[in-house]
Amino acid sequence: MAGASAKKDNSFSTVSPLKTPLTDEQEQEIAATRRETTPTLRAVVPALEEILYKPVSVLDHGFVRVIDYMGDDAAIVQAARVSYGKGTKKVNEDAGLINYLMRHRHSTPFEMCEIKFHIKLPIFVARQWIRHRTANVNEYSARYSILDREFYIPHPEHLAAQAKTNRQGRGELVEGVEAARVFEVLKHDSTQVYEHYIEMLNEDESGKPIKEQNKGLARELARMNLTLNYYTQWYWKVDLHNLMHFLSLRADPHAQYEIRVYAEAMLDMLKRWLPITYEAFMNYRIGGGKPVRQRLERHPRNAGRQAGQPRIQRHEQGRME
Ligand SMILES: Cc1cc2nc3c(=O)[nH]c(=O)nc-3n(C[C@H](O)[C@H](O)[C@H](O)COP(=O)(O)OP(=O)(O)OC[C@H]3O[C@@H](n4cnc5c(N)ncnc54)[C@H](O)[C@@H]3O)c2cc1C
Repeated sequence: MAGASAKKDNSFSTVSPLKTPLTDEQEQEIAATRRETTPTLRAVVPALEEILYKPVSVLDHGFVRVIDYMGDDAAIVQAARVSYGKGTKKVNEDAGLINYLMRHRHSTPFEMCEIKFHIKLPIFVARQWIRHRTANVNEYSARYSILDREFYIPHPEHLAAQAKTNRQGRGELVEGVEAARVFEVLKHDSTQVYEHYIEMLNEDESGKPIKEQNKGLARELARMNLTLNYYTQWYWKVDLHNLMHFLSLRADPHAQYEIRVYAEAMLDMLKRWLPITYEAFMNYRIGGGKPVRQRLERHPRNAGRQAGQPRIQRHEQGRME
């Protein structure tokens, strides 16, 4: 992993800011980490350094941030040529080689690069995500710690009915009185289960018992009544080959919107990290080839899209697991 000589930059303005800010303490920790720089002989990618450690907002309380990375475009070329030095030649020759490797589905040169993310995501998204077995994961322990009172409520434009043609997807929007009732139910239930969670734990915010005479239920048991829209967090480390496999499945319009937006944010990070590989990936792999890439990029909603925003938001294209 790169111990990078990052330039000093504590601003959060280069990426889409979090709608729900981190706590002051968390922001200070990130700023302090960004101030520490280490000279290194290893590959450093300035465009990724710009956003290193900074969270990019996803959904209403979620985020993705890059914690560490190893390698750059040149590292793929270096490994493919099994070089003693940097291994790179002219930029166009390196791009030609990366394109060739991607087109012919060579995998091991891409496994030489790695990236580590910190992701905050609703539990029902985490259940889909964890099916990708080829990553290293360490999740926030709700046996050890108390979960935050943070749950996902969809934006009205993503509140949709079951698709009529696709059994796994969404169809028309749910609107008006019906939508209002759905939001009421979601908010009420999510709030209530958290109140019961705290009641069973018998702990107030400062860790003191709420009722002196009660023992309080163990954290590992009290969590079981929380709904799937509660947020969890994990560190997720993956090599580039398996990251691209994940992105090809989860940035695809067939993936459920709520996981797709994470994959979209990570695609932007991939573009910063490995611009040549990103181009080859978008041309030969994403969604199975160029037509999908062109559809994603030409979609009117994607005109003027900011980094971290989803490329496509058509709820009717989402598919659930
Ligand atoms: C749109 C969509 C809908 C889905 N719907 C459902 C659903 O309804 N129900 C459901 O259960 N899942 C569903 N899934 C999950 C899906 O079946 C996969 O489990 C998930 O996408 C992870 O893919 P993977 O196994 O290729 O990834 P990884 O686990 O990262 O594996 C990457 C690759 O490594 C190889 N590999 C890894 N482990 C093994 C192994 N033990 N044996 C052999 N090869 C291995 C395979 O080649 C695999 O493709 C859905 C996924 C998507 C994207």
